[in-house]
Order: sequence, then C-alpha cells, then structure tokens
Amino acid sequence: MRLLTFTTATATATATATATATATGASAPRLGADVDGIVLDLGVLADHAGVDLPRDLLAFVQAGPAALETARRLVDADPAARPAGAVHRLADVTPAAPLRPGKIIGVGLNYVEHVEESSRSLDTDKELPPRPVLFSKPATAVTGPGAPILHNGDLTRQLDWECELAVVIGRTAFRVSEEEAYGHIFGYSIVNDISARDQRRSGQWFFSKGQDSYAPFGPVVVTADEIPDPMDLDLSLRVNGVTKQKSNTRHMLFPVARLIADISSGVTLEPGDVIATGSPSGVGAGMVPPEFLVPGDTVEATVERIGTLANPVVDAR
Ligand code: MG
Repeated sequence: MRLLTFTTATATATATATATATATGASAPRLGADVDGIVLDLGVLADHAGVDLPRDLLAFVQAGPAALETARRLVDADPAARPAGAVHRLADVTPAAPLRPGKIIGVGLNYVEHVEESSRSLDTDKELPPRPVLFSKPATAVTGPGAPILHNGDLTRQLDWECELAVVIGRTAFRVSEEEAYGHIFGYSIVNDISARDQRRSGQWFFSKGQDSYAPFGPVVVTADEIPDPMDLDLSLRVNGVTKQKSNTRHMLFPVARLIADISSGVTLEPGDVIATGSPSGVGAGMVPPEFLVPGDTVEATVERIGTLANPVVDAR
C-alpha cells in the first residue's frame, strides 16, 4: 500500500455547505492511501465503516500489522460504497511529510563511487569503511514534499543534495541479525539528505546535516510487501531538471539488512524511525567545478517504485 499524509486546499466534502463556505487554507493533515492516482481518506473510510484506525501515520505504524490489515480491508471494499469526502484525485491533494520520526539515522559513504568522490572533494578517507558510518538528523530537520529547503547564506555557501532510499522501521529492533532485519521494516520512502558541506569541513557535523529542512521526506511510504527487494531500485536526482545522480540501490556498500543489524547492535530502532541509507555519487561537492544549491533551485529526488520528492530552495536569511 502507498500511504501518505496529505492536506486538501479547503474543507473536505463531508463538511456542511456553510462550513465549506467559511473554510480557508489547508485542512488538518489526513492519512490516505494512494490507489492508482486516487487518494482514499482512510479516516473517512474508517468512520464510515465504524472501525478504529489511527489517524496519523506514526500511530498507524506503531499500531502494528492490525492497522495495516484494517486499512487494506477499507481500501479493498466496494468502491461504490465509499462515502462522500473519502475520494480525492492525487493532483488535488498536497502531500506532507509522511510522519515525524523519533529519530533519523543517516549512513555516510555507503556507495563505493560516493566514497571515491568524497575523498576527492570532502577530505574523507579513500579506503572503504569497514562498517557503516552512522550519524543522525533531528526530527526538526524533516520537511515535506514541495516545502522549502531553507538556504541560510549566513550558515552555508555549500548547500548540497543526496538522494537516498529511506527505510521506515515498523517493529522495535534491538540486536537483530541480518536475517531478522526485514521483519522489522514497515516500508520505504525517499529522503533528500541535504548537507551544508562547509559546516562539515569546519567540524560542525550537526549543522552540516541537521538544520531545519535538511531532511525532505516523502511523498509516500510504500509498505514493505510491495517492495520485496529494496536492493534493486533505481534512484536519481535532478536540479532544475538536470540529472546529477543516477544509480541503483544494488551498489550500496552495506545493504539494508546489514544496516539494521549494525545500528541495532547499539541503538534501539523504534517504529517510525527512519534510516537514510546513503547517497550514490553525483553530489554537488564532487562536481568539477563544485556545484551547490542556491535560492530559486528545485531539487527532485526519485526512487523507483516510490515516486519523486521535489523541493524548492528558498532564501531563509
Ligand atoms: Mg547521506
């Protein structure tokens, strides 16, 4: 299932005529399922069917397999019986960040060619890392599809992009083996691991990776059953329509199962946590000459079977 958090431009059609007439701006965030370009409002469907269902995606993930089963039944029910307000065209809704993770674990240097370009341009080690290189981004860094990436020229002149497969944890994982790892995954999404290279060069890892808006996330979470093999997905990134990154997750140095086993050897992964699994080569710092994001740019990160995450870069000084 393709799950998303979305708003609509006005009150939903379930509102009374009077309420609709007075409603302005966006609706409260709703939990939906994207079924072939039609967004079904799972909250409206659950109310109509008289069943319990968490109304936000984090609570939904935390609720475990039962919530997903309920959602499947609602989505698979007779389309003719769907109540008013349950159905939107995808083009008519605004996707938000799918959820606010408890934590985001980033993986550095997880594609061989990116290790090479980083050693050339970012002063990192030439040798392949013997185990995953981990860092974290705070939840406040998360922003949604279409939302601005904040360019603060007082803090960086080297704002860069990194298209990454995001793993959303579904079941608490502590000291799990690689064999057990897949059983702890809820689904997959996209994170653009925005990075201020000059902050990292000056030793400021947290400001390099963790500033507000440095984790665009979405537009959907695709449940794990729909992507049985996350290790064979094309991923690419464009800036203003020009392709900068193009690779496949099979080129990861440490595959998803190894990442979960490694992280959970020392840190408990909880439902809703996100692992940003690392960037392929083609980041701006590795270009000759280097290229960095400036206000007015648009960045689009695409992962096969998930979708495209597009964000504008906006001056935020
Ligand atoms: Mg990264």
